[in-house]
Amino acid sequence: MAIAPISERDGYIWINGEFIEWKKTQIHILTHSLHYGGAVFEGIRSYNGKIFKLKDHMDRLFRSAAMLKYSPNFSVEEISRAAEKLLILNNLKDAYIRPLLWKGSESMRIHSPMLSINAMVSAWDVGAVEYRKTELNLLISSFEKPSSKVIPANCKSSANYQMASVAQLEALEEGYDDALMLDQMGFLAEATTSNIFFVKDGKIFTPIPDSALIGITRTTVMDIAKTIGIDTEEIRITKDDLESFTECFVTGTAIEVKAVNSITSSDKKKVSYTNNDITPKIISAYKNLVIS
Ligand code: PMP
Repeated sequence: MAIAPISERDGYIWINGEFIEWKKTQIHILTHSLHYGGAVFEGIRSYNGKIFKLKDHMDRLFRSAAMLKYSPNFSVEEISRAAEKLLILNNLKDAYIRPLLWKGSESMRIHSPMLSINAMVSAWDVGAVEYRKTELNLLISSFEKPSSKVIPANCKSSANYQMASVAQLEALEEGYDDALMLDQMGFLAEATTSNIFFVKDGKIFTPIPDSALIGITRTTVMDIAKTIGIDTEEIRITKDDLESFTECFVTGTAIEVKAVNSITSSDKKKVSYTNNDITPKIISAYKNLVIS
């Protein structure tokens, strides 16, 4: 059965303080953020009607906004309450929640004091975003993550996602599940919408996140590891190090914790992982935490 376009769903979307009927929401074609990529957003999950780490996501949204020198017209509390009300209004229990702040259509100049900062929150049933595969095969992309001097990786800005989207398309076209990106120094950064972890000798390793988003799931997983007595170390990881690890998994709000079956380099060298020790423990602890 064909899936209806996301714009054709039923329900409400909160825009600038009002709940508007889903299909009637509109922005002008000269919206500044559409042309220049200047929107900031979050991806949040609710489990059985309860929003997971709402405050952490809202704080990150406002940190992203501050990096772009946005002055939002709504507070963390107002946008958080809008997200909670939206779940009730749209009758959602297990939802993906997408808040976004964007610049309006008052000017096409690269910067203009006339530009409004708008806010919206939408939410939809998680069935549409859930990654049903339990093991992923990743392809190292030829696209690199920009240095944080080019565009801060920890700013969840729409501008950060365009090459990730091309990298993912390339990976899918070649039969992989997602792309993994290196930074400009050749160190592993992150997958298109998730952070990466490895296991060796009973210990977890993850890239130093200077060219990656500091994922809320990443931090949660590091906390889980600590409580079950496993150390996590942030290190620099190159393509040549991949073979030294036995397990690999990725983390993200939408993807949750997923085992990585293999990583293939652009020269088609494939490294496979067993994921039979620490990865399943982290996956099950994360599942328990989000529904608790
Ligand atoms: N990196 C990128 C580029 C992402 O888009 C995401 C998803 N937000 C992540 C990592 C994981 O972040 P989180 O765990 O906060 O969802």
